[in-house]
Amino acid sequence: MRAAVVTAFDRPLTLEDRPTPQVGPGQCLVRMETSGLCHTDIHAAHGDWPVKPGLPFVPGHEGIGIVERVAEGVTNPAVGQRVAIPWLGWACGECEWCIKGWETLCPHQHNTGYGVDGTYAELVVASAKFVVPVPDGIDPLDAAPLTCAGVTTYKAVKVAQVGPSDVVAVFGVGGLGHMAVQYARIAGGTVVAIDVHEDKLDMARDLGATYTINAAIDDPDIILRELGGADAAIVTAVTPKPFEQAFAGMRRGGRMVMVGLPAENTLTLPIFQTVLQGITVTGSIVGTRLDLAEVFELHAAGHTRVVRTTRRLDDVNEAMKAVEAGDVDARVVFDFRAPAS
Ligand SMILES: [Zn+2]
Ligand SMILES: [Zn+2]
Repeated sequence: MRAAVVTAFDRPLTLEDRPTPQVGPGQCLVRMETSGLCHTDIHAAHGDWPVKPGLPFVPGHEGIGIVERVAEGVTNPAVGQRVAIPWLGWACGECEWCIKGWETLCPHQHNTGYGVDGTYAELVVASAKFVVPVPDGIDPLDAAPLTCAGVTTYKAVKVAQVGPSDVVAVFGVGGLGHMAVQYARIAGGTVVAIDVHEDKLDMARDLGATYTINAAIDDPDIILRELGGADAAIVTAVTPKPFEQAFAGMRRGGRMVMVGLPAENTLTLPIFQTVLQGITVTGSIVGTRLDLAEVFELHAAGHTRVVRTTRRLDDVNEAMKAVEAGDVDARVVFDFRAPAS
């Protein structure tokens, strides 16, 4: 089976023919139909973050496919079922965080496409308990971005406790941000979308943003304060500056949720303003299996739209370059079903 493999952090991915992976206890084998390209995959391939993946590895954690085989004793999912393979590849189920509904914080978790081989491959083994069924009627090309970009921003909107009278600032209108705009609207918020690309701001307006700010032209914090300040901010940017702008644009008592993971890992926060204005700054990482099931439910009901463009896995390196250059509307999705060119 074909797989895109990272062999060194300073080299492009290589396409390899690998043997079919063995199904271990509690696992299932999934034949991929689609897999999204998340910015995390680029960081993983470059070894950008403090904890680096072991080499070689297969990136990808927005995998959608059909279960082809299950280990002995596994009854769920069933062979033939369509499932999603998310970032949370496995969690222990027994620790404090797993028990209280925060499996995404499990210290023992395995992360797909980082700690364990991911979904840039035709065949992928996954924990049967941690794949999430994809309801009929959802296009696998839509389901892939929902599996990380969707669930991550859906959870961030929950963490931000967005209410009907809230002004919600969404920093960065890419793969994550374009979903954040929609979930903030669904929660009843008035959305202000911030980006440096005018075409992405047009997309944000199409998806329900009431206001847009081009941060290449205007200061987002000044405009947010003119609007009364943001009750909630979801920051999906991949550089630190928008995080500072978000903080400076918060309303008293506001909740700022950090979602993007810049390679440059530092943010300076003014203590005085944080204390006196009662601002909450928090992080939010992906979402649980239940969050993802809810994301699929909303999409199946027609409440969300996924903006994506399709590529073949052979084009993985070009696709990553295009995403890094900001040349891609929202999400790249690799389609494994497309015939070889
Ligand atoms: Zn991701
Ligand atoms: Zn756990």
